[in-house]
Amino acid sequence: MPLLDVQDLQTHFRIRQGIVRAVDGVSFSLEEGESLGLVGESGCGKTTAALSLLRLLPTNGRIAAGRILYQGQDVLQLSPEELLRFRWKEISIIFQGAMNALNPVRRVGSQIVEAIRLHASISQPEARRRATALLEKVELEGRRIDDYPHEFSGGQRQRVMIAMALACQPRIVIGDEPTTALDVMVQAQIFELVERLRRELGMAMILITHDLSVLGDTCDRAAIMYAGQIVEIGPIARIFFHPCHPYTRMLLRSFPRLAGTREMVGSIPGTPPNMIEVPTGCRFHPRCPDALALCQEQEPTWREQGLRHTVACHLARTETSDA
Ligand code: SF4
Repeated sequence: MPLLDVQDLQTHFRIRQGIVRAVDGVSFSLEEGESLGLVGESGCGKTTAALSLLRLLPTNGRIAAGRILYQGQDVLQLSPEELLRFRWKEISIIFQGAMNALNPVRRVGSQIVEAIRLHASISQPEARRRATALLEKVELEGRRIDDYPHEFSGGQRQRVMIAMALACQPRIVIGDEPTTALDVMVQAQIFELVERLRRELGMAMILITHDLSVLGDTCDRAAIMYAGQIVEIGPIARIFFHPCHPYTRMLLRSFPRLAGTREMVGSIPGTPPNMIEVPTGCRFHPRCPDALALCQEQEPTWREQGLRHTVACHLARTETSDA
């Protein structure tokens, strides 16, 4: 049994203009200790898919259908009390902007201690000792436990967020573009840190990113998302060297490479669709250079391309199978 098994997840938002189908039939699984990258352009639904796993949606959002099985138990059936115990302890998240996620008027130590004590019946001094050790684990000085968020640099705040995410030793940690606001050198340090801790603590990870360059070093597999759906999923090497979906290929070409042949960096023509009225058939057909007449009418089904490598495209060569 996989650690996490997401089946046909559908998450919708109600806005004035109608219903936004931000996540529309997403399925994937995650094994113990595995890291999976969720990749795609802004607005493709990757963050919404990840937040749905924790049922952390804004008030206008709802999970309309699907199942999220964590060790066989459906997260969507958890009571509010069970959900409180589940978050941070089983799955935790490192948010994009640490300044938004940390309470600016509370010392970082008290925020970490609170997260620890919510899930473990230990004394305040013991929780404080653990919080200090966590700060040291993320390479911050333990004495800074009584500092406020604004006393840290952007990279250090992100380290505090990582410490918080690890506070309850979760089995899965979600990284939601964890280095977006940081400069390139600090980004590299943060990714190195996350990867080292992940391996040390044996955690599985879901890394949300629009930056393909971080995937190779960090993830075992990647799921490529377009317009609320996964269009291709497979081991990193397969995705990088044998991409099967035209969108994956264009996404790869849109990133500069330091190694290999010299090629012009390409862009993907057009814009992602309006998620209130998505195109018929394959959602990528208005932008796809390989589109057939069939693509406008018929939604492609999943086709296996190799071990744990599947794609949803009419041009893919093998027989239809379950995702
Ligand atoms: Fe392009 Fe058709 Fe494949 Fe969609 S199904 S990606 S439109 S070839």
